[in-house]
Amino acid sequence: MNPALEGVDLLIVGAGLSGSRLFVELVTLWETETDPPPSVALVDRLGAFGRGVPYGMPSRPGSLLIEPVTESTPPEFHTWLREHPEQLLPGVAADVPALADWHARNAAQLTRGDLTGVRLPRHTFGAYAEQQHSNAVALARGRWGADVREVVGEVVDLRGEDSGWQARCADGSRLPARVVVLAIGSVPRLNRTGLDPADGYVHDLYDGGFEQIDALITGRRRSRIVVIGSNAAAAELLHYLTHTPGLLERVATIEVISGSGRLPGRPDPAGLRPSPREYMAGAERLEEIGKLVTRSGRVTGVARTGPGLQLRLASADTPVDADIVVDCTGAGRMDDTASSLLANLVGGTQGFTPDPTRRGLRMDPVTFEVEGAPHVFVIGPLLNRDAIATHVESINAVHRTAAHLAPYVHQRLRKLRGAAATAIGSPGAHH
Ligand SMILES: Cc1cc2nc3c(=O)[nH]c(=O)nc-3n(C[C@H](O)[C@H](O)[C@H](O)COP(=O)(O)OP(=O)(O)OC[C@H]3O[C@@H](n4cnc5c(N)ncnc54)[C@H](O)[C@@H]3O)c2cc1C
Repeated sequence: MNPALEGVDLLIVGAGLSGSRLFVELVTLWETETDPPPSVALVDRLGAFGRGVPYGMPSRPGSLLIEPVTESTPPEFHTWLREHPEQLLPGVAADVPALADWHARNAAQLTRGDLTGVRLPRHTFGAYAEQQHSNAVALARGRWGADVREVVGEVVDLRGEDSGWQARCADGSRLPARVVVLAIGSVPRLNRTGLDPADGYVHDLYDGGFEQIDALITGRRRSRIVVIGSNAAAAELLHYLTHTPGLLERVATIEVISGSGRLPGRPDPAGLRPSPREYMAGAERLEEIGKLVTRSGRVTGVARTGPGLQLRLASADTPVDADIVVDCTGAGRMDDTASSLLANLVGGTQGFTPDPTRRGLRMDPVTFEVEGAPHVFVIGPLLNRDAIATHVESINAVHRTAAHLAPYVHQRLRKLRGAAATAIGSPGAHH
């Protein structure tokens, strides 16, 4: 059965920080309107409204902001923190060793209320983002009686139809919408290994990967872990392993293989941001006790061999053996992705074309409207064209781009509503 849901004016696909923040900005614009607000559906695969991947459940409670809170988050959040001092009390995190450690390291500054240089737990920012989201939904429903729907589901395709677009969801339901905003986060990599967690292979840390690693380590005596890539995710994995009781003693070695051969989290000449000092401390401790080694190389394949896994490297004759392999190589490409939605959009005939970097879609650089797909806009990491630049996807940048995009979406909705009203009111419209 393919139930057709009642259509909406605006569909926001993905309600992490980007989709949710756009909604918050739109609600602010409604304050100056005399017309009733448009109907909106926010559809999110995880149901992580406001938080998304970095500030919600896919990230561990011990994960920290990559950059100091004073530099990387908006002033409204700093005000919110002052109004919610309980968020920074040690008791909040007593049962999470990584957070207890974080509190101990930052105790002096936290007591003074000085957050300069401090990397806060990402879930603390998530609590703020979620509250902003809920406040906007409550305001829209309470003040204007707006039809705002929060739907937990995955959009897998978009089809153009007479009055706009029809979204198809993974459960078969269909949702018509006049305007669509794609706020789906980073492009997920396609798993080409044919392996899964039962083989010891962890493809995506932020799609159940931490739980898979827990189960794999706990089920073995002495694991040899190989991590592919030394980026921020690899650093976060090491931090997790050093702060989860019972895991580290079951790990024999952790070998990190990457192009740079660097210790995860260290700044590198390519300009990657260094990880929080708490992460660096974890990695250095692992190195000191001889559990962590790094190697420069390019992995060309991972395969199952009897009881374990084997990695082939481009410039080495001898393969590397492992019990657990964790892929931390970053985002996928528009035409090489595990996202059913992107695969269908790019592989379909609806006009969606990857841009030359394959990191995003061809679109208007000012309005973020997708070329060839009228009334479809984009926000979030899909706007990022540079491998390492984070200018469009950091927290501050998400806030900035949401404020920039909201008026375009708002105007488009008004224009389409005006056109529909004219069509309904015009002579002959009822024939
Ligand atoms: C692990 C991690 C840590 C980060 N840490 C920081 C940091 O410390 N500081 C910083 O400034 N930036 C950080 N970032 C950058 C981050 O990208 C932005 O800060 C911001 O969170 C991006 O939000 P988003 O909503 O665009 O993406 P996401 O948070 O990824 O949200 C996208 C949402 O879309 C949903 N979705 C995806 N596809 C579909 C679909 N087809 N149908 C329905 N729903 C769908 C997902 O479930 C998800 O909830 C981090 C990013 C990651 C991945």
